[in-house]
Parts: sequence; structure tokens; C-alpha cells
Amino acid sequence: MNVHLQERAFTFRAIVDFSRSIYGLDFVTLHRPVFEGNERQYLIDCIDSNFVSSVGARVTEFEQQVAAFTGAKYAVATVNGTAALHVALRLVDVLPDDEVITQALTFIATCNALSYAGAHPVMVDVDRDTLGMSPAALRQFLARHAELRDGRAFNKSTGRRLAACVPMHTFGFPCRIEEIVSVCDEYGIAVVEDAAESLGSYVGKRHTGTFGKLATLSFNGNKVITTGGGGMIITDDAALATHAKHLTTTAKVPHPFEFVHDEVGYNYRLPNLNAALGCAQMERLPEMLAVKADVARRYAEFFDSIGVTVVRAPEGTTANYWLNAIVLGSLQERDAFLEFTNSRGVMTRPIWRLMTRLAMFSQCQHDGLANSLWLEDRVVNIPSSVPDGALPPFNAKTL
Ligand SMILES: *Cc1c(COP(=O)(O)O)cnc(C)c1O
Repeated sequence: MNVHLQERAFTFRAIVDFSRSIYGLDFVTLHRPVFEGNERQYLIDCIDSNFVSSVGARVTEFEQQVAAFTGAKYAVATVNGTAALHVALRLVDVLPDDEVITQALTFIATCNALSYAGAHPVMVDVDRDTLGMSPAALRQFLARHAELRDGRAFNKSTGRRLAACVPMHTFGFPCRIEEIVSVCDEYGIAVVEDAAESLGSYVGKRHTGTFGKLATLSFNGNKVITTGGGGMIITDDAALATHAKHLTTTAKVPHPFEFVHDEVGYNYRLPNLNAALGCAQMERLPEMLAVKADVARRYAEFFDSIGVTVVRAPEGTTANYWLNAIVLGSLQERDAFLEFTNSRGVMTRPIWRLMTRLAMFSQCQHDGLANSLWLEDRVVNIPSSVPDGALPPFNAKTL
């Protein structure tokens, strides 16, 4: 073994040991849910009430909790985050054959939702520090390719309308959303924030997802809080919120017994059972975020001490530290790290393969994606759950 490889093995070993020491376990998962509140009680109540499906008081209560927490005026619960994004794109009038600008460095759900809406994704680069859409890259792309006709943006090279822009707050690190919104405003392009990963992340004091016209959240099993599966659309626009609820509930016109639907809608409303879980999770969200911030602080101190780059919340922002991430030296080092850690029971994983490198999206227009490609080779996620026993004891509600 040459010196470099020995040093590397030493570093990898230290990282495995440190992760195990945080979690007090030999086998460490990447991110597992924590049910240390009223989850069981609320689920039982829900079953006893017979309201287990999409009609039920918990759905509305969960929506109100999320609206209050994020500071959005309205929240509409959906079966998952992908469905939320699909509907959000319809709400901003993305039509088949329109183009939607997004980042190539994202989870597949972003581009799947664009495809369900019939849109063509167009990919711009991310910033290296935020891992999210770069406003400079966006501006440059639009300056080169967009033209305004009657206040609407069209792509000069394809002739298609540039209908919306979907930036994403990667791993809960806020992207430069204010600048992105202001660039899009100049071109009349609607911003839908994919905030699936950023519940509890802020720019200044303002919650991510409250900058664009609409935003979507996810409560999948591996996210900061979970409803099993679930999602949410948040917005400050009353008309959009009403339409969101209508579209996600089969577009049924309210009537005591008649079945009248006034457009093609979706069966996307979150069931009451899932919302019951969500209500219990929301009650403990602030404590979970505090624990996650502490885990991130310990990781940062440790990685500083061994000279490994750890991703930090960009200045002026607060991250939820959903998934902690480190930046390794090269693709070779990344692969060796993933092999070393996963074979020792410490779960790690690479950042997503770029959308443009997947067969379905390989023909998409993009801007070269220099930073995205650089990050794709180097960024890995490390275990980031709330450790066992880290939450303060919970006083269960007595009935
Ligand atoms: C989790 C996630 C979604 C939504 O996923 P669902 O599993 O459908 O809830 C969307 N975008 C991103 C970036 C995500 O990480």
C-alpha cells in the first residue's frame, strides 16, 4: 500500500468510528424515522374514529401545523412529494411541451414530476457551496437562450415556452432562492421550490419554500419527519391553495350527493392515517431539529480536525441538516469510501447521478453543468438520523 492509500484507510476508519460513536451502534443507517411522541395514540384514535382515508380531521390539522411552522398562509396535503410537485406545476400553468428549468443535481422525483406534467426539463448548474441551483448560471442561461414575448419567456433554440423554474434545497441546505426568484421575475417565469428536503431550513428568518409562488414538501420515510408517505403544497396565494385542494381531490364540485367533477383531477389527498402520524411528528419537529443541529456541529468539528471538507449551511441561512454531506477528493476516493463504510455497516451513499446522465433525460438542454459534474464525483452523505435517546423524554398525552 502506498502512503496515500494508507492515509486514506486511516481517515475512513476514523469516520466509521466517529459515526458509530455518535449513534452508539455498530450498524448505522443513513436516516431512520423516530416515533417518540403521540404517534401510536393518534393512529389508534384514527382507527377508532373510522376516518382512516382522505377525509378526516387530522389532514386539516396537519396542514395547519405545517402552515404555522413554515409561515406559509396555506398548506394542502398530498399522498407524496412527487404528487405535490406534479400538481404545483399544473397550478402555475405548466402545459404539455412547455419547458421547466431545474437542476441536474437532484433526486429523480423532481424530473419525474416535470415529465408527468408533460414538460421538458432544462438543466442549469448548481453552486458548489449550496449544492442548489446557481442564480448566476440561471441568469446566464436565460440571457443566452430566452426571449420575452408579451411578458412570457420562450427558449430561442427550441421555440418552447419557459413556463417555470424548480430549484431544490439539496439535503436541506438552502439555495440562493432570493436571487433565483428575482432572476425569474425579470422573465415572468414562475418559481416552484422543491423543498422536499428542507423542512426546518431558513434563509434569514424566512422558511424555505415561502419564496416562490408555490413549494412542495415530502414526508417520505427517510425525510426529516415522516407520515409513511406524504407531501404538501404550501403557498401564500389563496386561489392557488383552493385550486390545489380541488385538483388533489378529484376536482369534485362540492355537493351533498351529486358526482360532478369540473376538470381532470387526481386522487392525491393524504389519508387521515398518514396525517395522524404527521401531527405527532410535527409536535416533536423543533426538538428533532435541535438534535440534528447538534449532530451536524459534532461532525463539523470532527471533519475539521481530520481535514475533510464538510458541507455547512451557507452564510445567512439555517439548515435542517437532514443529511450531512462531505466532499471527498476524487471519484476514486469516493468509491473507495462508499465501499469501506458500507461494508462495515456504516451506511453512506453518493449524491445522485446527474439527471442528464440518466437515459430518460440524456437529451435535455443544459449549460455544461461544470459544478454539478464536479460535485457528483465527490459528495457523499453520512449517517444523519436523530440518535437513539437523544430526544428529551416525552410526556405522552393522557386521555
Ligand atoms: C423526497 C423528494 C421528493 C419527493 O419524494 P416523495 O418520495 O414522492 O415524497 C421530491 N424531490 C426531492 C428532491 C426529494 O428529495
